[in-house]
Amino acid sequence: MYSASRSKKGCIFCRIISGEVQSDILYQDEQVIAIRDINPQAPTHILILPKAHIPSPAEAEEPLLGHMALVAAELAKREGISPKGYRLVINSGAEAGQEVPHLHLHLLGGRPLKEMG
Ligand code: AMP
Ligand code: ZN
Repeated sequence: MYSASRSKKGCIFCRIISGEVQSDILYQDEQVIAIRDINPQAPTHILILPKAHIPSPAEAEEPLLGHMALVAAELAKREGISPKGYRLVINSGAEAGQEVPHLHLHLLGGRPLKEMG
């Protein structure tokens, strides 16, 4: 539950970044890591997350957010979903359904996606 903790302690994504928890890592650099979502909502469902524990976009630096989006676009190319289209989503806060309080960008594609709402 999003409201349970905004701290790094016990954060599942921080545990993945530290190597404590295994994950399917597709890409990483100094700032971000990209993993396959454990419960994919589309044939391609990748999460791009900062290596630093940043709870929400409001707490992130502008270059980091831009970098996350460009990494997502590059991964969409690599996955072969760019020509048909893909979706980038950041859930922020309880009403958006954010489950993990560590900023992450969802990259979804590989099938027609329904309207948002
Ligand atoms: P959100 O609802 O935006 O906070 O999304 C959290 C996402 O993290 C969900 O799509 C989960 O399936 C995904 N997730 C949770 N735990 C893991 C994990 N250990 N490895 C990969 N993805 C995960
Ligand atoms: Zn974290």
